[in-house]
Amino acid sequence: MAVDDPLWFQRAVLYEVMVRGYADSDGDGIGDLNGLTSKLDHLQRLGVDCLWLLPFYGSPLRDGGYDIADFYTVHPDMGTLADAVRLFDEAHRRGMRIITDLVVNHTSDQHPWFQESRQDRSNPKADWYVWGDDDQRWSEARIIFHDTEESNWTWDEQRGQFFWHRFFHHQPDLNYRNPKVQQAIIDVMTFWLALGLDGFRLDAVPYLFEADGTNGENLPETHQFLRRLRHELGRAYPDRILLAEANQWPRDVVEYFGAGDECHLCFHFPLMPRLYLAAKRGDAQPIRWVLDETPAIPAGTAWATFLRNHDELTLEMVSDAERDEMYACYAPEPRMRSNTGIRRRLAPLLGGHRPLIELFHVLLCSLPGSPVLYYGDEIGMGDTIALADRDGVRTPMQWSAERNGGFSTADPERLYLPAITDPVYGYQVVNVEAHERDPGSLLNWLRALLATRRAWPQLSTGAFELFDSTSTAVLAYLRHQVRGGPHPVLCVANLAATEQVTELALSGWQGRVPHDVISGAMLPVVTEAPYEVTLAPHGWQWFELRPEPSGSD
Ligand code: BGC
Repeated sequence: MAVDDPLWFQRAVLYEVMVRGYADSDGDGIGDLNGLTSKLDHLQRLGVDCLWLLPFYGSPLRDGGYDIADFYTVHPDMGTLADAVRLFDEAHRRGMRIITDLVVNHTSDQHPWFQESRQDRSNPKADWYVWGDDDQRWSEARIIFHDTEESNWTWDEQRGQFFWHRFFHHQPDLNYRNPKVQQAIIDVMTFWLALGLDGFRLDAVPYLFEADGTNGENLPETHQFLRRLRHELGRAYPDRILLAEANQWPRDVVEYFGAGDECHLCFHFPLMPRLYLAAKRGDAQPIRWVLDETPAIPAGTAWATFLRNHDELTLEMVSDAERDEMYACYAPEPRMRSNTGIRRRLAPLLGGHRPLIELFHVLLCSLPGSPVLYYGDEIGMGDTIALADRDGVRTPMQWSAERNGGFSTADPERLYLPAITDPVYGYQVVNVEAHERDPGSLLNWLRALLATRRAWPQLSTGAFELFDSTSTAVLAYLRHQVRGGPHPVLCVANLAATEQVTELALSGWQGRVPHDVISGAMLPVVTEAPYEVTLAPHGWQWFELRPEPSGSD
């Protein structure tokens, strides 16, 4: 792809896709790279600029492929390296980019590096992982998968020592104090870049190093390694990107941008649950609070914002009381919960309420950051809590009302996970084909929204300013003009389920005439007086603030 736009990611819409769950080209019941390639037109029509693929490498698949046993191959169920290259080329031909997970923190215990490391204390890879004689060290480090793991240490019979792991006990952490490990990961990155990948989501990036007296998160050594990784990436490929998965408070996440010399993008984890909290309360305050808490970020970087992903809806970045409030509302049944979060999809979380689903996308497309959509949410797919762990939100993509939702021609019993068939969210009713045919469908609505975002570049790169609103249910903000672009856009969003009349302090924009971006309707000119706006329940509007036409216009 052209190297002429290194900041493409600031305007991009990303789409997270699980290769195994998207489309099965060879009828074995498992989605594959060729299947995904055959669906690129759907993604292009939707307005997606960049795909993020979940891991598709050699793996025993005990953690959705985040347990990598071979960084250099494609899992045979999902295809071959040649299929991967064809996918990258086909995406590029359509002007789309592709990033994938670079799982930097750990490998599977089936990885040959670990197999060698565990043999004894003196083999060449003996210190590629983190070993200890007891399981007491670094007790300050929290257990992330606390539903299933009791300790961050697991005893290895063969080596006669404990090994360190921040996630499952079959995912030993790599030892980043060993320069050879650092180099090995850089080599993996370089290999995939040469094949045409446009960048990486750095999985579980806060946990690379351990140190006495710390909780093993966000350590200076980790940032030092990231600067090295970024340097290696940027040297040869100035338009490729790193996206940090750092589930941390804003003040800690911004460290992952460095001084513009670490990651290009960081997920905004604390914003996400506050959208749900605000909707639950009918009050925009939680969103305002987190935006106020969010420090400025360096030029040449951007937030990545999201509503849902392949994991549980994490509630690590809210207070204990807020978490209880969210569990009560969004996960009333205990089995809807997983670790510190909720294992449900967007549409069922929002009760299938279309205005609210739209409002969430509107916020995603106009608050600072590049939106990351989760596959299936564009048609309001459902989930199934009967499946274990996070599998309930990873079921097959629903393409049509045909067998297995058009995902695969295999017998239903052979699918990697069962397709959803319930009366509300089953593939018989919720599928891409049905949404294509219905002009008023969520898919068509979202397509139009993404096109609008693209046409008003202020919404992605304009400076952001929050406005006071007399109704606490209404979030009001401005996306300022961008260089050479059109006028500022005023965004108003009603988080309440009741109509809201609000007054905005817009006097700084006196003489401007708000034009509704969607309908083109004109509102009264802004004067010194507070500006009154009326919003429907969960309603929203985007207004371009145009100068008042002079008499001669
Ligand atoms: C991924 C999870 C995975 C974990 C361990 C996470 O951050 O998003 O899906 O289980 O890393 O690899």
